[in-house]
Amino acid sequence: MEEDTAMESCIFCKIINQEIPGHVIYEDEHVLAFLDISQTTKGHTLVIPKKHVENVFEMNETDMTQVFSVVPKLANSLRETFKAAGMNIINNNDKVAGQTVFHYHVHLIPRYHMTDTIKIQFSNHMDSYPPEKLRTLKDEVKNNLTANG
Ligand code: 5GP
Ligand code: ZN
Repeated sequence: MEEDTAMESCIFCKIINQEIPGHVIYEDEHVLAFLDISQTTKGHTLVIPKKHVENVFEMNETDMTQVFSVVPKLANSLRETFKAAGMNIINNNDKVAGQTVFHYHVHLIPRYHMTDTIKIQFSNHMDSYPPEKLRTLKDEVKNNLTANG
């Protein structure tokens, strides 16, 4: 029931179902790719599963394989079409990570200049993470992975 409500109000499901317009550049049985309305840069594209899945935490291996299997050809096509110099491929999961539309999507953002307006900056906290701390973190996550199969 909750799932139905989420799908009914989902803007990307509406694009899939052609209830609202989308500038679709690619479609197959499982995947749709269309231009992002914001056009962060020229050609900014979203790749989504046709199945309503909120984010990576709900994706299974098949869903993910289907989405990412079309990413290389779309990336190359966007790069060639618009003569982009590079590309950021980004996926935001949950509010804290910047997700605003809760239907899984991968952003393909062509990059044209080193001086464009996009700033993706990874801060460096390696001073707070000496090797022994990294080892503890690694053990924690590995143990959890094993516990969960
Ligand atoms: P997020 O912030 O969830 O990673 O990205 C959501 C993206 O969806 C944003 O880049 C936003 O511009 C895009 N978006 C939101 N509404 C629409 C819409 O109605 N049509 C299209 N094509 N893109 C949308
Ligand atoms: Zn949806």
